[in-house]
Amino acid sequence: MADCVFCKIAAGEIPSNKVYEDDKMVAFKDLEPAAPVHVLLIPKKHFDNVTVADPELVAYMVGKVGEIANKLGVAEKGFRLVINTGDEGGQTIHHLHMHLIGGKALGWPPFPPEK
Ligand code: 5GP
Ligand code: ZN
Repeated sequence: MADCVFCKIAAGEIPSNKVYEDDKMVAFKDLEPAAPVHVLLIPKKHFDNVTVADPELVAYMVGKVGEIANKLGVAEKGFRLVINTGDEGGQTIHHLHMHLIGGKALGWPPFPPEK
């Protein structure tokens, strides 16, 4: 999709620090890491968000999480997988992506709790 940063990263038109790639998806380091380990998993095909994505592709990506987490050294201690969706969900890039975050103990909830 034109003018989509993540489509350009998937196509190699914008450089990124890739940690995994196959014919369907890419995982690369987040530009502004929120933790020692912070990578983004994206499908090579453009979907605006998870609600409109091909469920088989989403399942395929989730199926690769263990392998990628293992490669990044966070599989045993644990990590968080996050899909921000829409404005209130905090999605800023409208190409489906999963945040894989770890490398330290993460707080919960990651937003101010209800009173
Ligand atoms: P969102 O807020 O949409 O869930 O997450 C978008 C993420 O993409 C943010 O964590 C942001 O730091 C990251 N990001 C935005 N532009 C780029 C870029 O050009 N390269 C990389 N590696 N990460 C990016
Ligand atoms: Zn895109």
